[in-house]
Amino acid sequence: MAHSIAIDGPAGAGKSTIAKRVARALGYVYVDTGAMYRAMAVYLLQNHVSADDDAAVSAQCGGADITIRYSDGEQHVFLNGSDVTGLLRSEEVGSMASRCSTNRKVREKLVELQQKLAASEDVVMDGRDIGTVVLPHAECKIFMTADADVRAKRRCLELEQKGQSADMQKIAADIRERDERDKTREISPLKQAEDAVLLDTSDMTIEEVTAKILEIAGLTAR
Ligand code: C5P
Repeated sequence: MAHSIAIDGPAGAGKSTIAKRVARALGYVYVDTGAMYRAMAVYLLQNHVSADDDAAVSAQCGGADITIRYSDGEQHVFLNGSDVTGLLRSEEVGSMASRCSTNRKVREKLVELQQKLAASEDVVMDGRDIGTVVLPHAECKIFMTADADVRAKRRCLELEQKGQSADMQKIAADIRERDERDKTREISPLKQAEDAVLLDTSDMTIEEVTAKILEIAGLTAR
């Protein structure tokens, strides 16, 4: 059976940076599930579907064929045959992803895709519901968090490094709004699995967090 490490937590906690490093150290495949919700958001935006119209989201989401491929170890997300990876990181898409991820049909479709990936590959998968819903039997579950201000600063830096403008106040407000929506939604809310280890990364370096997770997983780098 394939091995899996589940990393959940709020926006900007550093999940993807760390998950990538842990995956590389172990020779596992890194699966960014947020990117799948973002690809669904791109589809809904392209089709002018309002996130507030749950029935329309349910009716339309079936038209989004989302697949994942890897090239040079990087995850690429394809939407109906086109590589949309470059479109996923904007705040508009992130906000739409958060809003459409409350929809049951959207979640069912993407959870199925995630479970299929994890059945055939050793994975480090990050998201909001991996330890609780997608991979309840993952060998290692981490709930990664960080102070809200630290998370907003990290998001700003991430955008600036990509040459995009970043308004700290707006990003902080957006993070708070998304946290609230992710935690209070009816289906698969963001919460720590009972058997997950809580890791507050506010005062930790990337190297420290990576080493800690490898230690928790009881695995050594290949
Ligand atoms: O992690 P990322 O910011 O890319 O995720 C975008 C949005 O997708 C999140 O705000 C969350 O609402 C949603 N999401 C989710 N379940 C996951 C991963 C992401 O609901 N497993």
